[in-house]
This record gives sequence, structure tokens and C-alpha cells, in this order.
Amino acid sequence: MLDALTIRRWVLVGLLGVVVCPLGTNALAQVELEVGTRAEPLVLARGTDSETVCGIVTAAEDGPCVLIVGGMHGNEPAGAVAAGQIATWDIERGKLIVVPRANVPALEAGQRRTPGLGGDGGDLNRAFPLDGEVRDGVARELWALVERFEPDWVLDLHEGYDFHIENEESVGSSVIACDQERARALAGKVLAAVNETIVEPGQRFEQLETPVAGSLARAAWEKAGIPSMIIETTSKVHVLSYRVRQHRLAVHTLLRELGLGPSPAATVLGPNASREGLRIAVFDGRGVGQGAAAQMVKVLRRAGKCNVQRLDGHDIRARALGAFDVVVHPGGSGSGQAKALGVEGRRAETEFVRAGGGYLGVCAGAYLAACNYEWSLGLLDANVIDREHWRRGEGGVDVEWTGSGRALLAKDSSAALVERFEIEYANGPILEAARQPELEDFEVLLWFRGELAENGAPLGVMPGTPAVVGAAFGKGRAMAFSPHPEKTEGLYALLHNSLLWLAPREVEEE
Ligand SMILES: [Zn+2]
Repeated sequence: MLDALTIRRWVLVGLLGVVVCPLGTNALAQVELEVGTRAEPLVLARGTDSETVCGIVTAAEDGPCVLIVGGMHGNEPAGAVAAGQIATWDIERGKLIVVPRANVPALEAGQRRTPGLGGDGGDLNRAFPLDGEVRDGVARELWALVERFEPDWVLDLHEGYDFHIENEESVGSSVIACDQERARALAGKVLAAVNETIVEPGQRFEQLETPVAGSLARAAWEKAGIPSMIIETTSKVHVLSYRVRQHRLAVHTLLRELGLGPSPAATVLGPNASREGLRIAVFDGRGVGQGAAAQMVKVLRRAGKCNVQRLDGHDIRARALGAFDVVVHPGGSGSGQAKALGVEGRRAETEFVRAGGGYLGVCAGAYLAACNYEWSLGLLDANVIDREHWRRGEGGVDVEWTGSGRALLAKDSSAALVERFEIEYANGPILEAARQPELEDFEVLLWFRGELAENGAPLGVMPGTPAVVGAAFGKGRAMAFSPHPEKTEGLYALLHNSLLWLAPREVEEE
């Protein structure tokens, strides 16, 4: 589906003759947000392990050109994710050149340095020496972007391990400006905008000076006379979506100050994310279990053409779901996630589904979708029963398909040809029909046949209750999994298939 914005941009690209390089699908799969509907992205380090894309956004009006780099260090994902979202922003003036994932091998390994390279050679942000040649590989290609586009500003997005204000050893939560008056002044504005959103004094951003020797930002200023800034979030306490939002706010503030006129909604999430494929929001706020959002994202990305982003209660209260087709709540604590959403966030979610969005809840997310807690979303006509024995255990449990469950969910899974199979379970809800007249009856897709009954849970409660249910809610649909297909080898397809059912009708019909 091409919306008006997309069409306008293609026309613009054609008129301006922005450099066009065909992009391999493999490279596309690696970017957080597909930037293909903007201009055709440039491909850097093509054909190597380090191959990565560079998105280019050109406004109709002239204005400053800003180069934004994320993912220099592989264990600092917030900068990479934010840059991927920023590559989808609209601007009124100037040009954005965005490399979201500068060091792909390091990002894939989740480590600071490029795997297999020791010393400074493995640290991409030490590969731009002041007194010598820029190193090979991606560093050389990034520098070539600087020389070719001669940007007016260079921004590099990083993360530290601790808050600098409390621990001088780390540069976490800081804005590091190059040695230029205007850069210092603008860094102050960026700092003020971000600090406005921070409650804890010990987590406030501080302004630091002079990026480290060997960094892209330092070289941009000292070798090419281009003012630069490094923005550092802190990975220690906050979830990824929180840190990504700080990066977005910092960059948005700077672009606004520079006169590029980024669209106001840009601080939320890329509002112009590619319309190709499903747009899936995975909740990663408080109440989500350790690693549960990351596991869910990993599994959903295998579904193929889809755009998966993480967001939290702040984003949802700011109506970020408007840019997505399906919201996913993973395992953890149902009440914790409800609390992180707040009354306003819960209302935004039910309105999202009522208006045609999809809701997928797994374990804690299934508790959240039910009716009978004061914090329930009430998307499904289901009550959680035997609530006092919610800690009934973790492990494999036997389940059995219903006809419609198999038709809807089984394709391409290891359970496609069987009636009964085992699935991982971890204290998920035991559901029964709530019979609320204003809610659609749910359809059972999978029954529990086996059971776990630990910590005082009585035997016989679990077997014969629904393990997976789905129902329409307003113009949208909701599905709840009490067990964990994303933790069960061979059953990931159950989630992939659920997305096709949950997505709004227009997408389904494409
Ligand atoms: Zn870094």
C-alpha cells in the first residue's frame, strides 16, 4: 500500500535524482526500520560481513544537511534503534543522512568491538585518527559519506553503562559537544529538553566536552571542520524503548534548533514507517520479564516481512500505536504491565483495538487481556480463575488443537500434523468465559490437556480449560496465549500465524 506521503517522496527522489543503489533483501532484513520508501538507501561495505544501509531523506526546501550514525558499538543498541526510526522522519528543510547500524557484526554479537578484531582496530569509534588515515572497512565508508555529502552537522548516538552524573568513569547520559561555541550552545538545548523528562536527579544528562580522539565526531570537527555531537544514553536501569526515546528527543531537539522542521510527532516513533509488511509494537516497559521482550522481538522478526519496534507505556500514552497494526504484550507480570501502562495507556490500547488494531498477549499479556482484574484491559470475554494459585508451575504442558485453532495457527509449525503436543508454560492464566454481554464470545483455539499444579494449586483445574483464545473486539481482534510458543522450539509459527489473523483487514487483503 502506498500512502500519499510515500508517493510524494518517490516523486521527490525522482526529481532530485538522489543517488539510487539497489538494495539486497538481506541487508534490508537487518535494518530496524526499512528505509526503502524514503530514497533507495545507499549500501555501505557491500558484499562484506559489515554491509549496512544508509538512509537518505531529502526535504523539498533547502536547509542543513545532518549525518546521523548509530550502532558504532554493538552493545549500545538504543542509538541504532533510534537512528532506524529517525530515518523514517519527515523534515521540512534540508537533508538527513542516517546510518542506523554502523557496525553490523558487533551489533549482531551484542559486543562493543567488531568480532575478531583486537585493540583499537576493533573499536569502530576509534578508527578515525587525527594524525593518520581513517581505518579500512566501514570506517572508511563512513568517512566517505562525510567527504561526499559535506554535512553541516555530524551526530553520533551511543550508550554508556552508568550515569555520568553519579559515576565519572562512564559517559552515560551525557551530550558531548565538539570544541565549538555553537555546538556547546546547542548541546545545552538538547540537554535541557531531555532533562525536562527525567525525574531522578541521579539520572540527569550532563554536558561534556570534546569527543574522544579517534571518534568520528572528533575527526569530523578537527579534520573536516564539521561541528559534531555525541549523545549517550545509559543502559544500566531503563528498558530499550526508554533509552531510544531519549535519543529521539535529543535528535529531534537538535534538528528543530537547526531549522530542519521535523514533524512534531517525530519524538514518538517513526510515523512514516514503511507500510510494507506488518507493523508490530512489542511492549517492553516495566512488568515485562527479563529478556522476554528481546525473545519476542527475535521470534516475531522471523515471521518475514514485518517491522517490529519496542515501546513502553510512555509511547502508548502518547498514542504511538497509531503507527502500528498489532501490539504485543509478552510474559512477565500482568499487573506490572498494567501499572506501567497506567489508566491512560490502557485506554489507548483498548481504543487502538476497538478502532481495528490487533492485540496479542502471551502469559502476562493474556492476564492483561482478560476481564476480572481492576487493571484488566477487558479485550476478551474471559475471566482468570483460581487466581490465588497463579504460581502453578513452569514446564511443558500437553495441549490439543480445536479445528479452528489448527486451521488458523498450525501452518509451518511442528504441531501441524498432530492433535496433541507439548508447549512451554510458565504460570499463565487459567481462563473461562466471562459472559459479559458487551463482549464477543471468544473462540478456543487450543485446549490444555495436561496440567501443572505446584505451590498448593489443586489438581484438575487446568485440564480442559482454554490455552489459546481469540475474539473480535470492536473493529479489531485480540488473541491470548496462556503458554509460551515463543519459548517452544518448533512452535514459533503459531505466533507468526496469529499476526495474520490479528492484523487489520486492509493489511490482510493485500
Ligand atoms: Zn559507544
